[in-house]
Amino acid sequence: MTILKTLATGFVATSLLAAALPANAHDDIKVVASFSILGDMIEQVVGDHADVTTIVGPDADAHVYLPSVADARAVAEADLIFVNGLGFETWSDTLISESGTEATVHIATEGVTPVMVDGETDPHAWNSLSNGVIYVRNVADAMSEAMPDHADDFKANAEAYIAKLEALDKETRTRLAALPADRRTVVTAHDAFGYLADAYGLTFLAPVGIDTEAEPSARDLAVLIAQLKEQGAAALFVENITSPVLVQQISDETGIEIGGRLFSDALSERGGPATSYLTMFQHNLGTLLDALGNNNS
Ligand code: ZN
Repeated sequence: MTILKTLATGFVATSLLAAALPANAHDDIKVVASFSILGDMIEQVVGDHADVTTIVGPDADAHVYLPSVADARAVAEADLIFVNGLGFETWSDTLISESGTEATVHIATEGVTPVMVDGETDPHAWNSLSNGVIYVRNVADAMSEAMPDHADDFKANAEAYIAKLEALDKETRTRLAALPADRRTVVTAHDAFGYLADAYGLTFLAPVGIDTEAEPSARDLAVLIAQLKEQGAAALFVENITSPVLVQQISDETGIEIGGRLFSDALSERGGPATSYLTMFQHNLGTLLDALGNNNS
């Protein structure tokens, strides 16, 4: 009885709210994003015009994720679904096909030039800001097609957002370009920064490959540690989505310091330093520069 009453009250309140809002607010279009970084990009473009639900949330690993019943429901009810693609979400094809959804599925990395890491396609394309711009344009195109009445808003939101991404891209290039050659090799827990390395001229090494599924073999780890002892590295970094144990072990065995925590595959929880794609990239840039010794400006 109490539940029914609450539902009824909630319904009335929602209806009143809907009546009070301009006719074009929301339009009941439901958008699902596969992971938090992409979810933020979509919210920047759609503003108040659509509801965005994100499946893999802050600080969580989207490579290996077990979708919940709630995820299946969100996908089933969605009008548009955005995924990263390039093999990032190992679970999304099954979730989408088994949900029976009629949503259109959009691949945010369409048009990105893939970077290969150890012979495999690196899916972490957002870790170069010029690719972030491609994501945003793809989102704006798909949303404009789905909601043509709001296409002008989506275009304006996207262009304003892209201007910020391009400004940060320029700043990143300038500041990382100033690093000396012997301060350009770093180690992270898994290979999530192939695009950052490619775009901004750094070298990233990692004990774990481009996805987090496989543990490194003892031999692979020994080879990396031997390489680091011989050639050195400017710093090691832990990540928000992976255990710090391996990186700590590498630090113990090589004497190379841990320079901080990078946000590779997910945003931070609310109140953290990386609650949006832009602040995530700024945080990573600041962390790299702090550890590599060129954060004076
Ligand atoms: Zn990853």
